[in-house]
Amino acid sequence: MSLKIYNYLSRKVEEFRPISETVGMYTCGPTVYDYVHIGNWRTFVFEDLLKRVLIFNSYKVKHVMNITDIDDKIIKASSEARIAFSEITQKYEKAFFEDLEKLNILKADVYPRATEHITPMIRLIGVLLKKGIAYRAEDGVYFAVAKFKDYGKLSQLEKRQLKIGARISEDLYDKENWSDFALWKFPQRNTSKVGSDSFEVNRIEPSWDAPFDRGRPGWHIECSSMSMKYLGGTFDIHCGGVDLLFPHHENEIAQSEAATGKKFVNFWLEGEHLLVEGEKMAKSLGNIFTLSDLAKRGVEPLTLRYLFLTAHYRSKLNFTWKSLEAAQNALNNLRDQIAAWDEPKVGCAGFEYDFREAINNDLDMPKAVAVMWEMAKSSYPTSAKRQSILVMDKVLGLGLDEIKKQVLPKRAEELIEKREELRRAGKFGESDKIRKQLAQMGVLVEDTANGPKWKIRNK
Ligand code: AMP
Ligand code: ZN
Repeated sequence: MSLKIYNYLSRKVEEFRPISETVGMYTCGPTVYDYVHIGNWRTFVFEDLLKRVLIFNSYKVKHVMNITDIDDKIIKASSEARIAFSEITQKYEKAFFEDLEKLNILKADVYPRATEHITPMIRLIGVLLKKGIAYRAEDGVYFAVAKFKDYGKLSQLEKRQLKIGARISEDLYDKENWSDFALWKFPQRNTSKVGSDSFEVNRIEPSWDAPFDRGRPGWHIECSSMSMKYLGGTFDIHCGGVDLLFPHHENEIAQSEAATGKKFVNFWLEGEHLLVEGEKMAKSLGNIFTLSDLAKRGVEPLTLRYLFLTAHYRSKLNFTWKSLEAAQNALNNLRDQIAAWDEPKVGCAGFEYDFREAINNDLDMPKAVAVMWEMAKSSYPTSAKRQSILVMDKVLGLGLDEIKKQVLPKRAEELIEKREELRRAGKFGESDKIRKQLAQMGVLVEDTANGPKWKIRNK
């Protein structure tokens, strides 16, 4: 069964064919100037699912994710706090990795930091200057989009105006117009601007020596440069959130292909946004939540992962606390069921087939989760279900492989039996005492139409 994925380059679902045995995958990483919010996590979890699906299909994956540790927002934050920019980036990078682990995201092979790759960026800009595709202006070195004939092939936004000669120096870019964009920025004095937000401070602006003058890289160049350094001039997959399609990914293509003369990436996948009341979750809109915000409400990180699984990555997902609560209930219910299952033996082949079919159909995770539930509720032996859940969790990543079969202690078994006898005799006061005794032992008993059900409370 082949893997099919939607490619933004062709705007079609295509059969995935890698260049070689090991799939090269680059995902745009976080800008470490603040805590990563759950909108960002939606994209990072989608990328994790893609990687797990590739591994499920027996591919080896070389995964590279950059850490943007220098840009306008970081400089603004460090200038305002009057501390070195590295103090900010180190703090938030650490927090990023802690949260990543909580969400059970597989680690990338390389996490290159922009500030540690200035030399290859300078080299790439040098090539573009030499080819006459980049030029020097008073505040930096720019890419001349009119000189790259394929500009716009990814975003396919013909309606957008190409403002010939117009230049964009900020890292927050004009989303409507094509403009020449900064590859390298010369240091600025005292004032700056991030989006519509002007600020006047004594900027603590880092800069590096370069043949075309001291300065710092623009944002796009780091992804072209670092992806090609680790994955080669042409590689298989590039991902990000859909807001990066234009101009970031378009500009990455322009910089890379103009320099190498080769196709940069074969498959472009872009994850849709997490919304809050119909609007994109974004720091600038003040509608963000972090994993700590969730923890304050008693919601564990894997619940968020479960919630993300319930929507297709190319559909918008509206965040509500109610949907998160439903996800938490579903996950708890699933865990309780699994805890009662026997040790794994031969799995449920039919359900495993349907599961693979769903994930290989452009990562149809809602379908895959539905198949998983059908399997869990089926009348297959519980040993088969446990085997299949282990297989499925390799993709779902919900930590279901860590759930051990719960064994009822002999003494508790006897007490449950005794309690039933008392209930049958109508001695409810005494039976309640036994329920409390069991609870003290960590055994919770629930009376259902099919008799008592027990569960061992997690410590
Ligand atoms: P940033 O740190 O802003 O560069 O964002 C990191 C990643 O999160 C990028 O791939 C963005 O496209 C993605 N992203 C940002 N906001 C959202 C959102 N509300 N929903 C999904 N992905 C997002
Ligand atoms: Zn990027």
